[in-house]
Amino acid sequence: MHSNTRRPALGLLFTLLLWGFAALPLLAQNSYYFPKTKNFDPKIPTPEQFLGYGIGERQTRYDRVVAYLQELDRVSDKVRIETIGYTYEHRPQVIVTITSPENHGQLEQIRQEHLQLTNPAKAAPALTNMPVLVHLAYNVHGNESSSTEVSLLTAYYLTANQDPETQRYLKESVVFIEPAQNPDGRDRHTNWVSMHQGNPAVSDPADREHNEVWPGGRGNHYWFDLNRDWLPLAHVESRNRMEFYHKWLPNVFIDFHEMGTNSTYYFEPSKPYSSENRLIPRSTYDGLNVLMARYHAEALDELGSLYFTKEQYDNIYPGYGSTYPDFQGGVGITFEQASSRGNKQENSLGMLTFAFTIRNHLTTGLATVKAAVENRETLLRHQREFYQSALTDGRKNGVRAYVYGENYDATRLRKFTELLLAHRIEVYELEKSQRINGQQFEKGKAYVVPTEQPQYRLVESIFAKTKEFDDSVFYDASTWTLALAYNLPHAGLKTKGALGKRVTELPPRTPALPEQSHYAYLLDWADYNAAGALYLLQDKGVITQTIFKPFTASTSSGPKAYQPGTVTIPVASQQISSDSLYKVIAEVAQLKQISFESVKTGLSVNGIDLGSNNIQTLRKPEALLLTGQGVTAYEAGEVWFLLDEQLHMPISKVDLASFPRLNLRRYNTIVLVSGVYNSLDKASVEKLKRWVADGGTLITFKSASEWAIKQGLAQGKIIPAQDTASKAARIDFANARPTEGAKSVGGSIYEVDLDTSHPLGFGFTDRRLPVYRNSTTILAPAKNPYSTVAQYTNEPWLSGYVSKANLNKIKNSAALLVSDQGQGRVILFSDNPNFRGTWYGTNRLFFNAIFFGSVIKTPGTAVAAEH
Ligand SMILES: [Zn+2]
Repeated sequence: MHSNTRRPALGLLFTLLLWGFAALPLLAQNSYYFPKTKNFDPKIPTPEQFLGYGIGERQTRYDRVVAYLQELDRVSDKVRIETIGYTYEHRPQVIVTITSPENHGQLEQIRQEHLQLTNPAKAAPALTNMPVLVHLAYNVHGNESSSTEVSLLTAYYLTANQDPETQRYLKESVVFIEPAQNPDGRDRHTNWVSMHQGNPAVSDPADREHNEVWPGGRGNHYWFDLNRDWLPLAHVESRNRMEFYHKWLPNVFIDFHEMGTNSTYYFEPSKPYSSENRLIPRSTYDGLNVLMARYHAEALDELGSLYFTKEQYDNIYPGYGSTYPDFQGGVGITFEQASSRGNKQENSLGMLTFAFTIRNHLTTGLATVKAAVENRETLLRHQREFYQSALTDGRKNGVRAYVYGENYDATRLRKFTELLLAHRIEVYELEKSQRINGQQFEKGKAYVVPTEQPQYRLVESIFAKTKEFDDSVFYDASTWTLALAYNLPHAGLKTKGALGKRVTELPPRTPALPEQSHYAYLLDWADYNAAGALYLLQDKGVITQTIFKPFTASTSSGPKAYQPGTVTIPVASQQISSDSLYKVIAEVAQLKQISFESVKTGLSVNGIDLGSNNIQTLRKPEALLLTGQGVTAYEAGEVWFLLDEQLHMPISKVDLASFPRLNLRRYNTIVLVSGVYNSLDKASVEKLKRWVADGGTLITFKSASEWAIKQGLAQGKIIPAQDTASKAARIDFANARPTEGAKSVGGSIYEVDLDTSHPLGFGFTDRRLPVYRNSTTILAPAKNPYSTVAQYTNEPWLSGYVSKANLNKIKNSAALLVSDQGQGRVILFSDNPNFRGTWYGTNRLFFNAIFFGSVIKTPGTAVAAEH
């Protein structure tokens, strides 16, 4: 027997003493969750026996979840646990594979056969004995905690239940259980509820137990929504999962969620057409979704639990956990359970207990396994046909291949290509340099992606622009053209043409190290990694400067043209020796995979020389990010994440509530992402004003930009968006949602014209820049002609839904403004340049604001002490 035979008695006793009530005896726990059977293998410990408390009585810490699943692996030959990677907080991401011992014995063969099925270039294997693959993924939103508890009961049931029906499941399916897709967020919430849990439990919705403090446990370590990250793969958790996903390509994927406490239960089908993706075959929605729903309805009917379908939730964006599987020939399904947000809470139907929410998810999850097994061949055949139709649809597509490239920024080009490869998209080298639609694509710096390939539907999602919609209401974004997010020149070709070599992985980069110089080093700002390299240099105390006018330097590898933004590092001005500096340069080049050049003379071949007044010394950013109640946690998290991940630069996250007594002297840069800043009183606003006037750089996004203008911190004018009060005097109640939905800007992409000679535009090689907008903050161009750094073009709409009225207001409005104030300045973004950590085009504007804010002196503004 296993090591914890003595635990159940002790655990139970402890539980009984502590709670004095609900700790039901073992059989009672099992009969609440599994009322239809008593046939369990006694050698397999129940979660209650192992944990020492009944599931539903408290929140289970993630380490205990993993420990129980490891125990199942230890005692049963039906269970294997594996670690697919680690989260930012170093929790293991585990997935448990449950199937019959026979299947476990030939798992690799099963996998290979399954991949053969999904490969239209290969003959289909016989379906007769092929298991169906089911992935049950829990708790992507950390504070939707019932589902991780469900993972334990599900794993227990499939392992211990001896009924013939369950034996059939094990034989005919392979079930992957991912107990928590977001372990870091899960534990944040677990600790919150546990530390406030009363005895007796408090059901009052106002109790602290049910109300986490900002930012809550929904997001991951960086407060990101991982259920938007399946396409952009900004986070380690998603990248680890994607590797596992493509290793198996499951037929059914369930994403378990929780929704409002007063709600009931939701499962797909989603709202027909308008919430569905046009690239997905109707057989997924009208066939598989409807088929699966019958089982889910039947399971909940039996419990008497209420539910709804076909409403509310989008199933359109491939970044959702329930939509990406639809793009891989599976059927992805969202389950939403009303949340008890804690152990029990009053709701409109009476009392919602944690155990009740667990039982609903458990029941639908097991119904999913049943449905998959009973429709095994249908699901397998669907997947086969899905990839076959990807080829035919791709062949019929108006665009037969997309070319993308980038001639100046190898890092962004590489990041994008790595993303395509992570999605198993076929990428080829460009065979010869060519000009397409006025854009030059260089061999070696450009790639081709044909549409006729198994991943056709993802290819279209990543490259094509969307301007037609079935609806005006979006739960989230209405476009996700990643080629625009990365600001990569790209073009569609009407014919596939000749392809170069297939790219399956990118060779390691080998940055060229310049000759040692006693005069100066140069760092080109066009490469995305230049910002990270600059911060490393500054952090090591290296004096850095930037140029405002172009020049051609005579470098150790010949004459080379440099654009404004280039970082210069004069050798003799440093506090460290020439040899030490050279070591630092070599180290930074290696760490950031970026090349430096060296010059032996300050005299340029062309343009300004290295001692010119058009070169300014940069200051090392000491940055502060305001956080806390009222601040948009996603945007704050994006700032934190980008500075950590890309710049390795610390930023102090300070709560709004502590601002009044905070000494600002140590900061030269403050970031206000969108949010409500009304909690900052008059004195705080005055303090901020003084700090800016003394030379600080204040960076604001969206509603924070509006706030800064209204408080007189910055000059500017706000343009009201489409009226919220409709002009029609009377509208039917039933039409409220579409009418009101049309007025919001729910995530769409526009083109702006960027002044690339302005410090905020340094490093950009094209004046046209795509931006992402999901707010109605619209700013008028500045009075000072030099202050509108980026402006929406006259025809700015690129992709996504927008109403005509809003589009008219957005065109020619300001996207990026600078307002000089005394010795300092406020940099106002009308949008969020860091959206989802994946807008590599515009987040460089944010980096420019951080590094070059201090050298902005707008012409035409009075500057004190100028001689
Ligand atoms: Zn959720």
